Amino acid sequence: MENKWVVSKFGGSSVKDAVSMLRCSQIIENNSLTKIVVISATQNTTNQLEFVARAASVGDIDGNNDTLQKIIQEIIQKHISIAIELFTSPAVLNDLEALCGELKAIGETISINQDFTPKIMDELYSLGERMSSLLMADLLRLRIPNKTIHFLDARKIIKTNSDFQKAEPQIEVIAKNTALEILPHLNENSIYVTQGFIGSDLLGNTTTLGREGSDYSAALFGEAIGASLIEIWTDVPGVASCDPREIDKVNYIKELSYDEATALATLGAKILFPTTLLPAKRKKIPVFVGSSLNPRLGGTTITDKQHTGFSLKAVSQILKKDLIIISFIGTHLDELENLATSLQNDLGESHFEFYDQTEVSISFKVATFKMDKKESLLRAHEVLSKFFV
Ligand code: ASP
Ligand code: MG
Repeated sequence: MENKWVVSKFGGSSVKDAVSMLRCSQIIENNSLTKIVVISATQNTTNQLEFVARAASVGDIDGNNDTLQKIIQEIIQKHISIAIELFTSPAVLNDLEALCGELKAIGETISINQDFTPKIMDELYSLGERMSSLLMADLLRLRIPNKTIHFLDARKIIKTNSDFQKAEPQIEVIAKNTALEILPHLNENSIYVTQGFIGSDLLGNTTTLGREGSDYSAALFGEAIGASLIEIWTDVPGVASCDPREIDKVNYIKELSYDEATALATLGAKILFPTTLLPAKRKKIPVFVGSSLNPRLGGTTITDKQHTGFSLKAVSQILKKDLIIISFIGTHLDELENLATSLQNDLGESHFEFYDQTEVSISFKVATFKMDKKESLLRAHEVLSKFFV
């Protein structure tokens, strides 16, 4: 089944405060086809929840556990401030307070047990996405009053196995749940707001898909409703030719194939969760990656279209043991291999050895005696930048 509807996912940096959330609501309002909105936890909240678990399990000498209380208060305060900035009605605060109560209760349970299992960690993790999506749902009710905004608990739809913290989605069950719970209500006048990252096992326990897994959730929803597009809104205008946190002058890629994007995600690009492209590829749904800060800059569109000629899209780097693995992503690898030789010459590296190869990537080990990892990536990007398409 295929339709015109769009699934839109907003990452933690896109919903980090009231102004950012407003920006997202504008993006949602501007596209009348957007029907499922998938929200990540607000920026850094998932890390803070991990910190809650650690602090609660350790305790401190006087038994008050000030560290734990402090971090819990920070999380609560962050969300309450957004609510106060955005809303005037006390109803939102009541809903939020219920979640804050859950947060404190889980903190207490972990303190008493002085330990936390992956299972309780997933319960704790879920609060980040449940808080942010609650705020977004209320915001959309305010901003788009002519539409029915359904707040959807993703755990009702995204069924997984019980492998807590890295749960495997059960695609057929997800399809069945979607057909029952969502599809009959999808129409011009409805929007669903739900959480990324979280699901539940067949017994109803909360599970998560792995850190950074909200992209994957969006793709699973996209697959389940047969969406025409899956949008991933982040803080950069698309997938770059190199990690923009490592290098200033990157190139934003306009088009990638599913395989190239998967190779990039697997080979060190942090922008997409590696398994995200699987559901999209199965159903041939295009994936758009863009910046919620500035949607006009456009972004990267990922489809099954493969370049026919030679193309170099990106350079990435990962560290494995003591080695730096530099990979080129593109098509027509023979030519990419030649590029590797010229790069080796340019870097003056004595150890630049073939490491691995896929249809769309070739990787080399670089034992950097001469330069550090950032420097070698920078040089690689510079030398190859004239080949980028
Ligand atoms: N909030 C989760 C994390 O930070 C999932 C996500 O944002 O993709 O890992
Ligand atoms: Mg992400």
